[in-house]
Amino acid sequence: MTKLYGLIGNPLSHSFSKEYFENKFDNEKLIGCIYNLYEIKEVELVLEVIKQNPSLLGLNVTIPYKEAIIPLLDSLDESALGIGAVNVIKIIENKLIGFNSDYYGFEKSLLKWLPDELSGLNALILGSGGAAKAVKAVLIKNNIGYTTVSRKSSMNSITYLDLKESNLIGENKLLINTTPVGMSPKVNECPDLAYNQLTSSHFAYDLIYNPSKSRFLKKAYAQGAHIKNGLEMLELQAEKSWEIWSS
Ligand code: NAP
Repeated sequence: MTKLYGLIGNPLSHSFSKEYFENKFDNEKLIGCIYNLYEIKEVELVLEVIKQNPSLLGLNVTIPYKEAIIPLLDSLDESALGIGAVNVIKIIENKLIGFNSDYYGFEKSLLKWLPDELSGLNALILGSGGAAKAVKAVLIKNNIGYTTVSRKSSMNSITYLDLKESNLIGENKLLINTTPVGMSPKVNECPDLAYNQLTSSHFAYDLIYNPSKSRFLKKAYAQGAHIKNGLEMLELQAEKSWEIWSS
């Protein structure tokens, strides 16, 4: 019997998820399992995808639908409730349940990479979308203070211009890029920062994993900063997705 899984988002050309799950299905001899990409122009089209594919058991959700998907779901698991973003959907008897495995993937990969002593570490989160919500929840849990940098000014964030005019890069040693800026195919782009303010005591984490060294990471590395891409997070969240679909 076919067991169908997949990814919804737009665009999906950057995604490694299909390759990741196909390798997993092969290696673990998971017969009948298929993982498809569903690039949809509007989030509501997910309901059409589900209707046309009755063997769908689970979906991953990526850019730009992690928040917009919520009103279309029947319920939210605890993992997604507090975060307000969903990147895993489990389909049981036509009911759609939303989960968040980005939180798990980001926390595990971040804590493995950072030094044990985190006291006094503060972060700049670039972007305020679905992935940023999971990132914020992880930082709060681990007592890491943060400032959000967004294209638009708000009560909860500063702009890239505000950042340039401040010395916040000096005070915040952890920079996390949660925007898609620099993601394949637009590999020559990077968030608009004063990279010359970065030093060897900075940690730059890019959630992007394709390319493996984004322009953001290359520029941070050139300043001597420690760098990490999103591949380990992707793998951890994918394994967690599988656990959710299989339980
Ligand atoms: P999203 O919900 O669309 O949010 C992205 C945010 O980035 C937006 O809310 C926006 O924040 C900012 N942004 C978008 N376009 C921008 C631009 N041209 N210039 C500057 N900022 C821009 O997407 P997401 O699902 O959070 O995903 C974001 C990125 O993280 C994607 O590259 C995705 O592949 C990656 N990701 C990786 C993993 C992993 O496992 N490694 C997991 C999740 C996500 P403002 O409006 O505040 O500027």
